[in-house]
Amino acid sequence: MINIQNVHKSFGDLEVLKGIDLDVKKGEVLSIIGSSGSGKSTLLYCINAIEKIQKGKIIVDDIDVHHPDTNQDQLRQRLGMVFQQWNSFPHLTVLENAALAPRVVKKMSKDEAMAIAEKELIHVGLGDKFDVYPTKLSGGQQQRLAIARALAMKPNYMLFDEITSALDPELVGEVLDTLRILREDGMTMICVTHEIAFARDVSDTVAYFQHGVIEEMGPPDQVISNPQKETTQKFLSKVL
Ligand code: ADP
Ligand code: MG
Repeated sequence: MINIQNVHKSFGDLEVLKGIDLDVKKGEVLSIIGSSGSGKSTLLYCINAIEKIQKGKIIVDDIDVHHPDTNQDQLRQRLGMVFQQWNSFPHLTVLENAALAPRVVKKMSKDEAMAIAEKELIHVGLGDKFDVYPTKLSGGQQQRLAIARALAMKPNYMLFDEITSALDPELVGEVLDTLRILREDGMTMICVTHEIAFARDVSDTVAYFQHGVIEEMGPPDQVISNPQKETTQKFLSKVL
């Protein structure tokens, strides 16, 4: 599981995370919602050690993420991450993109890496795109490729940072459907998202972030359908 205890994070004088506590258990889906600038992305970067923290603790399985002795490469192999912007290699085919990290990072043979990549591409609905170059894909297909690339590393957890925010509205559904499939598979996920209906449907827990604190957290039936706090109600009335 992922266990986050009293995490504080500042950029200079700006305190961006002000004591975050949360747990994500195996097989659970946590959605994080909240206004721009509330610290959602920063928390994801702290979980995979892209950013340091000033106080508190983050545990991933048995790994103390910010301990100086932690092997961050091993940590990151457990955490797949997909961002808002597509970040594939344009000079490699879809299949080569998906096979790259298993080959380079896990030192798999070409055949082994290709076999895993093919399987994950089929999984996200790109079984007919192996030999295509990513620039020829739609935005939704590019995001599904990014998901397949992350899955090819066999992570224990997937972290998604607003992966549908840059997409044309008609392409959002296919990417969210892919996340629903992962959920059915039992993948443990943290989804930072503006898709409130999606968060309500798929999450075990929803956390509403405001100014670096969790204002309200609980099952979607509470946080989205029946928020207890006025701040949460206000936010939802703007985005729903
Ligand atoms: P969100 O993802 O919720 O929109 P972020 O985590 O990206 O919010 O940012 C939270 C705050 O931290 C914002 O005020 C942002 O400007 C600031 N911030 C984020 N990254 C940096 C950085 N590398 N250096 C300085 N300030 C940053
Ligand atoms: Mg963000």
